[in-house]
Amino acid sequence: MAINIADYIRNVPDFPVAGVQFKDITSLLLSPAAFSDTIDRMVAHAGASKPDCLAAIDSRGFLFAAPMAVRMQLPLLLIRKAGKLPGETLEFDYSLEYGNSTLEIHAGDITPGHRVLIIDDLLATGGSLNAAVSLIEKAGGITASIGVVIELIGLGGRDALSGYHLFSLVSFE
Ligand code: AMP
Repeated sequence: MAINIADYIRNVPDFPVAGVQFKDITSLLLSPAAFSDTIDRMVAHAGASKPDCLAAIDSRGFLFAAPMAVRMQLPLLLIRKAGKLPGETLEFDYSLEYGNSTLEIHAGDITPGHRVLIIDDLLATGGSLNAAVSLIEKAGGITASIGVVIELIGLGGRDALSGYHLFSLVSFE
């Protein structure tokens, strides 16, 4: 029987702050069948953009991008929150709903002209993925495609990334 991935994502109201409907993927990770199916579907969507490598956003993006990179036999590079990468980094500051954040990549991880598939667990406003796109492009890479497991519609994320190919497996209002 086909797996409905949405059934494995737990909704937690008012987490981490009042008003947020938090989409919890820890319940998906507990099911090897649903997790494996998620990776299969992400890989199936990703192939058409013919990426040379994958870039994963800290931290839940790592959980999906790592098995995808193994299946696709492509290099995996990490886009991390500030201060986590030991080598020389490029950085990009961006605004969150409350306050600011910084994402970094190792400066030498991207071969200029290479096509990069960017992976995160969830698209909300698109701020994190926009920062990731900026970093990839600052390093000379090309954004081949953007993939997320979950898309929250109505928060403007897809519009914020218009012009880029973007795929998601499940959508919630
Ligand atoms: P944004 O930059 O606004 O698109 O937010 C996306 C990032 O924040 C992702 O890395 C998610 O892990 C996290 N996030 C934002 N909103 C939610 C939510 N409602 N449930 C779970 N994670 C969220």
